[in-house]
Amino acid sequence: MKEQMTRRERVAAAMRGEQVDRIPQSFFGHNRNAERTADGNSAHLLRRAEQFKFDFIKVNLASSHYGEAWGGEYRWDEERSPVEGLLVVKPVLQTVEDFRSLPVLQPDNAVIEEQLKVTRLLHKNGKGEIPLTHTIFCPLTIAGFLAGSIARTPGEVHPVRDVMREHPDALHNTLRAITDSMAAQARMAMRAGADGVFMTNTTWTRDAVTEEEYLTFGAPYDRAVFQAAMDEGATLNVMHMCRENIMFNIMSDYPAHVLSYDSLNARNPSLDEAAVKTMKTLWAGIGIKTLLNGPEEAIRGQVRDAIAATGGKRFMLGPGCSISYKVPVSHQQAVTDELSK
Ligand SMILES: [Zn+2]
Repeated sequence: MKEQMTRRERVAAAMRGEQVDRIPQSFFGHNRNAERTADGNSAHLLRRAEQFKFDFIKVNLASSHYGEAWGGEYRWDEERSPVEGLLVVKPVLQTVEDFRSLPVLQPDNAVIEEQLKVTRLLHKNGKGEIPLTHTIFCPLTIAGFLAGSIARTPGEVHPVRDVMREHPDALHNTLRAITDSMAAQARMAMRAGADGVFMTNTTWTRDAVTEEEYLTFGAPYDRAVFQAAMDEGATLNVMHMCRENIMFNIMSDYPAHVLSYDSLNARNPSLDEAAVKTMKTLWAGIGIKTLLNGPEEAIRGQVRDAIAATGGKRFMLGPGCSISYKVPVSHQQAVTDELSK
């Protein structure tokens, strides 16, 4: 066993496929109460990282902020869930003309600035010792969000898919404006102390669009945002392929270092299949329902299975998707304890 590594050494060694003192790990999930302010959110993320010995932080941002940056309005359904029930009040994109004329955000947009502050504070308060990957949604996912979809299921992307099929030039206008705005956010996040960008693709799976459609309306724009971070020296660009029946072959080829997805879903590649398909580092292994519901021995079993499937090479342990704020401390601690054995 190697001597104890720093977090940066551990993450860098794992990504080079070298021996590590223990497998790196990190988990992420939304907490609306913390996400109300940059100060609250950065303090929450750092506290959790220290508590459970996370080796890097996915800078989780308020998911309403993309819409709010363009003037959209949202509210939280406190009854359904005090921290997760986001509802759309006024979508930004309502007509084809709206798609045609969406503007690029101003560089000093106050909503974006508040999100960048989260990364800036984490970099300062974490003394630069813990790598940070700053969340930015895929342009096509943001388009769905701006059109009023919270993007919970493939069916909810229909407003954008209709525009895609009937007015493709209008959708390209929107995607160009979103991409220019998010590439700028990626560059500013890097300058604020991020090590890379965590890009989330929610909903745009093979169940929602064809591969050809994604290659036309998704991939070029995703690549441009990652490339903006690469041009600023990114070392921790992460592609999160949400849900099931994901476009692994397309997205595993992006200018990113790490791939995040639900490896336990039977409609996605398993970890050992994925490890053969790509030389990128896989960040996966734990089912979000198992983490929430336990029992602890099942969680520990998933930790061991994931390490066995990858041989512990080019592998970091994490959840298949955003975890619930209700995950018991003892379940998260079981992961940390199993990795420290
Ligand atoms: Zn996800």
